[in-house]
Amino acid sequence: MVDPKTLKLVPLASQGKDEELMHAIKGILSSDETASKTMGMRAIMGKQILVSNNSQLDPQVLFRAKYTESGIHSMAVFPLMVSDNAVGVLALYASEIDFFHGDELKLLTELAGDISFAIDHLEKQERLSYLAYYDALTGLANQSLFLERVAQSSRSALSSGHKLAIVLIDLERFKNINDSLGRTAGDELLRKVAQWLTRYAGDANLLARLGADRFAVLMPVVKPEHDVEHLLAEMMTAFLAHPFRLNDAIFRIAVKAGVALFPDDGADTDTLFRNAEAALKKTKSSGERYLFYTKSMNEMVAGKLTMENQLRQALRQGEFVLHYQPKVNLVTGKMTSAEALIRWNRPKTGLVPPGHFIPILEEIGLINEVGRWAIRQANTDYLRWHTAGLAPVPIAVNVSAMQLRHRTFFDEVRQLVESDVRTAAGLELEITESLIMEDIKHSISSLQAIRALGLTIAIDDFGTGFSSLSYLSRFPVNTLKIDRSFVVDMTTAPEGLALVSTIINLAHALKLKVVAEGVETQEQERLLRLLNCDEMQGFLFSRPVPADIFEAQFLTQGPVNPAHE
Ligand code: C2E
Ligand code: MG
Ligand code: MG
Repeated sequence: MVDPKTLKLVPLASQGKDEELMHAIKGILSSDETASKTMGMRAIMGKQILVSNNSQLDPQVLFRAKYTESGIHSMAVFPLMVSDNAVGVLALYASEIDFFHGDELKLLTELAGDISFAIDHLEKQERLSYLAYYDALTGLANQSLFLERVAQSSRSALSSGHKLAIVLIDLERFKNINDSLGRTAGDELLRKVAQWLTRYAGDANLLARLGADRFAVLMPVVKPEHDVEHLLAEMMTAFLAHPFRLNDAIFRIAVKAGVALFPDDGADTDTLFRNAEAALKKTKSSGERYLFYTKSMNEMVAGKLTMENQLRQALRQGEFVLHYQPKVNLVTGKMTSAEALIRWNRPKTGLVPPGHFIPILEEIGLINEVGRWAIRQANTDYLRWHTAGLAPVPIAVNVSAMQLRHRTFFDEVRQLVESDVRTAAGLELEITESLIMEDIKHSISSLQAIRALGLTIAIDDFGTGFSSLSYLSRFPVNTLKIDRSFVVDMTTAPEGLALVSTIINLAHALKLKVVAEGVETQEQERLLRLLNCDEMQGFLFSRPVPADIFEAQFLTQGPVNPAHE
């Protein structure tokens, strides 16, 4: 066969001739001057059969004397072809002169063809089984081999009564590095990580690459459980300290990990693995570096899944409803506007408050559709009241971060505004402070565009989001809503009153209207009036109520009248 590294022929097997001749042939094949001129090598280069029927006199036989000495007078060399490459030769020697002719050559050519086929098949088989069990990029085991090894180790853990742990690891920032430095550098990093892990674990058989930037480590013997934690923390620190060199720059890579223990977290390999995955997922959404799987965690994930399906169905089947809560002018006592607050009218359980499902809607990306529904519904109610001859107040709708960032959000609002001249004056958007601060530049320009449509905008939950004061003056908003927690503190802590007073003065200095949220007591109302707060909203005046009750209770014919006597 041709050695792929030296490109020289190396005898692999021989039959029938003595050791001495084989030894001599090896010498000829490996010598630098002669190697390329031997019949074997020429058969390979030319991909052709070479025959010498009188070697003793044949100039193409380099070592005629040697062969004659060993009693060889005829020789034939057949290239072994695999996918159009000559990978080796079948060489035959005979003691007779003029031995290789017609039928023999035909037969032997077929024989060489069979051998080639077998070599090709074996190589493919080997490659296939390699690919079936190993990760081609790093050479580590892949998931199926890893799981087999875990199964094997768990059998011995069971019989000797100890635990084992599987740790799944994700690299942080990998996508980032891959995108900015390119695929080649990304691959290089993965190989280096595999090498580092192999060196650290001391045994490649305990490791696997599961895909992308995810690796797995098997700890086959875990005695006390805190052992794992200790080992893991140590490993993660060492990993972070290691400088990975890529494109002449040094990178330090942090990792996140999820751990599952056998048999506690899964009596079979599949469950164990799935639970390690759940733990990793949890780690990634938390601030932790690693987390252990716990049963309750799994139940949480399952609960969320069914919740997700239920929410999708809720949107399809119209189970969301809007309740309306009035905002009242503190001087006149009149209702000035109302806030639309979404509820989920969940079959069997009843009304679910938004705090229980808005975060999930955001996580699964359904907030855009539900948010769109809320804006349209509020607008529909407003126009209906208008058409019915009532004097509806502007309706404020809450908008979440994802909605505001969504590329079609503005166009949808614009279309709505363009569909009816009354819409713009009847619609306000409430956006939480923390959201605006997350992406100031983008916020300013999207808020400007919305303002230009004629809508008003309120900053919700003000005081909870660390606004930069210099930016606050540049936000194109109309209203500040003081978060309920400050209103509560107003009467319970001495600084509370000062804080609310300061916020009100700040808002007025910026020419903004100020609304206090969550006003529940007359004492709070009195203080707010003293502090010159413009409006209040809260249970004291009214809880959020369904649209029909809101209509009956607070909307009057013609011009707006005081809503409470
Ligand atoms: P928010 O916009 O700050 O709404 C005020 C919350 O305070 C409402 O809670 C309201 O029911 C409650 N509240 C009003 N007055 C009082 C009071 O006197 N005392 C107390 N303890 N609470 C009072 P709710 O309805 O549970 O809504 C919670 C949050 O959910 C809202 O906070 C808002 O951020 C969000 N939300 C509601 N509807 C929507 C919506 O359609 N879309 C989006 N994206 N978020 C919404
Ligand atoms: Mg609000
Ligand atoms: Mg609020």
